[in-house]
Amino acid sequence: MTGSLKILVVSTECVPFAKSGGLGDVTGALPGFLQKLGHNVMVVIPMYSFIDIKQNEINIAIERMNVKMGNELIVCSVHKTTLHEKVPVCFIDYEPYFARPNMYHDNNFNDYPDNPKRFAFLSKAALQLCHELNFMPDIVHANDWHTAILPAYLKRLYKDDPFFSNTASVLTIHNIAYQGRYDRYYYDYTGLGEEDFTPDKFECFNAINLLKGGIHFADMVNTVSKGYASETKTSSGGYGLDSFLVKKGDDYAGILNGVDYSEWDPAKDTLIPANYSSSNIKGKSVCKRALQEQSGLKQVAKSPVIGIISRLVELKGFFILSECIEDIINNMDVQFAILGSGDNQLETFYSNLQLRYPGKAASFIGYNNKLAHLIEAGSDFFLMPSLSEPCGLNQIYSLKYGTLPIVRATGGLNDTIENYNQDTGEGTGFKFWEPSGKAIYNTVYWALETYHNRKPHLQKLICQAMEQNFSWEKSSMEYIKLYQKALENKKNRAVI
Ligand code: ADP
Repeated sequence: MTGSLKILVVSTECVPFAKSGGLGDVTGALPGFLQKLGHNVMVVIPMYSFIDIKQNEINIAIERMNVKMGNELIVCSVHKTTLHEKVPVCFIDYEPYFARPNMYHDNNFNDYPDNPKRFAFLSKAALQLCHELNFMPDIVHANDWHTAILPAYLKRLYKDDPFFSNTASVLTIHNIAYQGRYDRYYYDYTGLGEEDFTPDKFECFNAINLLKGGIHFADMVNTVSKGYASETKTSSGGYGLDSFLVKKGDDYAGILNGVDYSEWDPAKDTLIPANYSSSNIKGKSVCKRALQEQSGLKQVAKSPVIGIISRLVELKGFFILSECIEDIINNMDVQFAILGSGDNQLETFYSNLQLRYPGKAASFIGYNNKLAHLIEAGSDFFLMPSLSEPCGLNQIYSLKYGTLPIVRATGGLNDTIENYNQDTGEGTGFKFWEPSGKAIYNTVYWALETYHNRKPHLQKLICQAMEQNFSWEKSSMEYIKLYQKALENKKNRAVI
């Protein structure tokens, strides 16, 4: 391996400061592991107004920083703290863009219309900050459509800047369904030229597609599991970008997300009422009792509980689940503990479930990390009926908590869960393939039947699940290889 790398990670989310999903988990954990491998990482995110300055020990770093966007000059400030005690995190503070109640949308889930301006500005400001701090990155690591413009910035606006002459770019796609498609009107603000508003780069039916442009310009592109990398290269899984990913050839890879076991390990978890491990699992029943009690489920130890924690959106399979969940509740001895928020129609359906089936269904609409830990620990099974799932984290947490995943075999769910083999008792969970209510119903039935009638297999599955290891140690080394390939590509290829 070559020497230590300087890596700039730019993202709209980073745990513990801002998170709506897996993106925040990844940018919160990966930098610490890269740093442990001896690399020098800096993270840049927006200074959202909901971030607690005091609690996170955030201090002012730069009072005034000028950022040129198209013909506008924006004056912002920069704040700073450290993550995992060692990784510097800088917050770009510009109130007109980031002092809003949510990251991406208003309280009615309508996207802020100026999102492309907000995040193009974040991207440009991150590069300006490198200059200000004399942080000369080997790698600029962009994440999702929000910061996908960064590779183009490096190759176009900074192409003659000696400061970035050896900087390569990596773009990670955390979910290809979100591409940053916006009106062409916003393109001027990005400062990029007409020559890049073409169908192979940023243009898509006369609108902007930021992710597409990012795929074109990045020296390496990756997504968050090998399975999803393959799926996104097909017409059904690529959401229109499959041919662009195929064109990348070996410059498009899949690296499974790791999980942060310092946060998600029942043996050490401080947010659950009792700790347990595969060698002493007693505490799990204490957690189950607490979950049933706190959520108003019937206090019946032998009734299996199925946990769900998710964004309640179509892609996560919640419309197909709504086709069968009442039949499951009516016909099977089972309880549901559901935590999520998202689509209005789905929120209404799942919160009403609790009113219609008191004691058998408990629903919490909103975001609640402590409850998420209790559901992981206190449930017997964890259901993820996703239509598509780039990596998925909750099924991996569930494995560690001995909470057997019931998943649709797609993307990262398929890669991380080994289907139960009824003959041998091998496996770590229960899989189905067809995206339908019927398939969910049958697979839940199979899991519950195993719970009641094949106890030795159940114990074996739980043990096997808890022994799985998806730590960042392995995945962070794969990222280093990805960065090295990006550096080689940057050196050896002409910019088109
Ligand atoms: P995605 O990024 O598509 O939302 P992932 O499975 O990759 O899905 O990551 C979801 C992350 O967000 C997990 O850490 C999960 O626990 C968390 N999460 C999702 N919804 C909630 C919620 N309502 N309350 C607490 N945590 C949540």
